[in-house]
Amino acid sequence: MPTFNIFDINRFSTELESAAKTVIVTHFKPDGDAMGSSIGMYSFIKRFFSTDVRIVLNDRYPASLAFMVSPEIEKDILTYDDNKEEVLQAISDADHIIALDFNAFHRTDRLESALASSDAFKILIDHHLHPDTASFDMVFSIQEISSASELEYYILKAMPQCQGKPENIPFAAAEALMTGMTTDTNNFSNSTYPSTLRMASELIETGVDRDRIIFNIYNQYGENRLRLLGHMLKDLLKITDDGVAYVVLDKETLERYSIEEGDTEGFVNMPLSIGKVGMSILAKEDKDRIRISIRSKKGISANRCSRLHFNGGGHENAAGGRLSIPEDIPGITHASEYIEKHTHIFINEENEA
Ligand code: 5GP
Ligand code: MN
Repeated sequence: MPTFNIFDINRFSTELESAAKTVIVTHFKPDGDAMGSSIGMYSFIKRFFSTDVRIVLNDRYPASLAFMVSPEIEKDILTYDDNKEEVLQAISDADHIIALDFNAFHRTDRLESALASSDAFKILIDHHLHPDTASFDMVFSIQEISSASELEYYILKAMPQCQGKPENIPFAAAEALMTGMTTDTNNFSNSTYPSTLRMASELIETGVDRDRIIFNIYNQYGENRLRLLGHMLKDLLKITDDGVAYVVLDKETLERYSIEEGDTEGFVNMPLSIGKVGMSILAKEDKDRIRISIRSKKGISANRCSRLHFNGGGHENAAGGRLSIPEDIPGITHASEYIEKHTHIFINEENEA
């Protein structure tokens, strides 16, 4: 079970007691863990502290996660897309900034410079490799854990307000943290530790309704998502001689199936069910770049592949990155060639090492 220095926990609590304006921030294109850890922290702060608190996002959370956001929380979420000035003002006014589910400010995209130049007290709670500790006043960073939501759960439980008792964590926070942990583990199919199962067990005992969470996450998609998945697996999936499976989804395909942010969640994991596949890549055309998701089996580092060849990083077996146009490739039609060439180099170098 994650343990913390009691001095750090007390310091975090004292800081929140002295805070007047607190900003919670997470990575761009927020996923379930980003939203779960943010809403968890928001609900905890609202319950126990008097500081003003806002969640600031680079872009809107996907519609598929709207079930997590109550109207009360919604009014305290600011997105750069909708309220650029208010977001920058909130960051510059903040005396405390809590950064969740990312390891360095560049992961917040357009919020980076405002966050980096703020002289607020900055706290990082994260589970990614290579945290940028120099940019923060306090860092809670563990990698042997499922998610930022799980890490936050154990921090909140240890805080003086909760006294080690799960039932003292505000219920809205408990539900959000359970949701974030569930999406980051793909419903307990990866990065699941004894502490992860203990968290789930403790939260169910406090009354968190796991069935409802599962229903909301996995059984509420539109028909279009499954139709695209069918097309992708049948027609678009390629497998190289190096055991790399990849799919390129261009704008035209995404539009044809009316795919929105969040709809392709989980697609990249599926090719790993094939025995000979060691690594799976999903390339999605975005406005001015191609977003890359990488998943790998044990013994192959998705993180290293992303750092070396796709301008990104993440975890050992789950990472992300991007290809810029025209810096990396001239356009989406060159994505297949780039992926095959660079994963060939990567797999062969890994085999030699
Ligand atoms: P996903 O494929 O689900 O977008 O991302 C997989 C994991 O890699 C997530 O934990 C995510 O936070 C991380 N990740 C995604 N993109 C990047 C990136 O560009 N840089 C880094 N360092 N991590 C990323
Ligand atoms: Mn995460």
